[in-house]
Amino acid sequence: MIDRRTFIKAGTIGASVFSIGGLTAATATQRTNRAINKPIVISTWNFGVAANQAAWEVLDGGGSALDAVEAGVRIPEADLSNLTVGKGGYPDRDGHVTLDACIMDHQGNCGAVAALEHIAHPISVARLVMEKTPHVMLVGEGALQFALENGFERERLLTPEGEAAWKAWLKEGKYEPVINIENESYTTDKLPGNQYNHDTIGMLALDSNGHLSGACTTSGMAFKMRGRVGDSPIIGAGLYVDNEVGGATATGVGEEVIRTVGSFLVVELMRQGLSPRDACREAVERIIKKKPETAKKIQVGFLALNKGGEYGAFSLQNGFSYAVCDTNQRDLLVDGEHVY
Ligand code: ASP
Repeated sequence: MIDRRTFIKAGTIGASVFSIGGLTAATATQRTNRAINKPIVISTWNFGVAANQAAWEVLDGGGSALDAVEAGVRIPEADLSNLTVGKGGYPDRDGHVTLDACIMDHQGNCGAVAALEHIAHPISVARLVMEKTPHVMLVGEGALQFALENGFERERLLTPEGEAAWKAWLKEGKYEPVINIENESYTTDKLPGNQYNHDTIGMLALDSNGHLSGACTTSGMAFKMRGRVGDSPIIGAGLYVDNEVGGATATGVGEEVIRTVGSFLVVELMRQGLSPRDACREAVERIIKKKPETAKKIQVGFLALNKGGEYGAFSLQNGFSYAVCDTNQRDLLVDGEHVY
């Protein structure tokens, strides 16, 4: 279960974290003289708390940010009570569980899989795509073939709960988002069959060598069209890392994140001197500017970490939380700021 011992409202942490992060371009150079907050790992939603613990074990032992983010996000991928990531994920509208993931390291290396079926840990397949192939992304059958050839076990991913929810959904077949479903208990009785759910774990880590990496993994929108891929496995949309600047990740309705190349945008805004929190806010505002009516009805959240170990987040709607683990706090859950 998630340890909620430390839960801080964004306003509280904002005073300390965001003022440090609130550098202008003119003052950005001062950061080089300031102690860097490392190692640190941050991740999306309340299930990020448990994921961060696994990542922290790697970081605390002097391990790499890359190993940390892979180990971290494997926790929700394996958690059957998590209906939006990995093996417990809900299926598409034809009853297939299809998983999306990507990973990126401090050297700009990256790997991704999309619409991957039958494999419980898409993040580890994504890492192998990065390390063993000349490509960045493998999808569908090809991704599955690559995983099986590399020793991953073929599994049935559709859980009895997922199947029951899908069958209930089929009765009405309405495709309407439930905002912040991860804040509900993971039980189908709280999830009417005519609704779908989503949410992703995006994780960013800075290791003791000052190297950044990120990982992002999801089952995407439940009851999505067969073949639909969201932002999460797309480098630049669901995740981006630039070791000179920082990293960012996204969660929420992926179509709007893709439209704005959200995570890349957040990193580029940090490069221009914005704090992680302000960069995330600007990216959220960009979504509102492009699709004002849509933006009122959906959730999108961004989370960012810069080279100094400063972090921040912003979302469209209330209810987006993120987890932080560093030398000062191991199980912090922050209630993110939002526009609506
Ligand atoms: N971004 C994911 C997708 O669109 C879902 C989510 O994070 O809520 O597939």
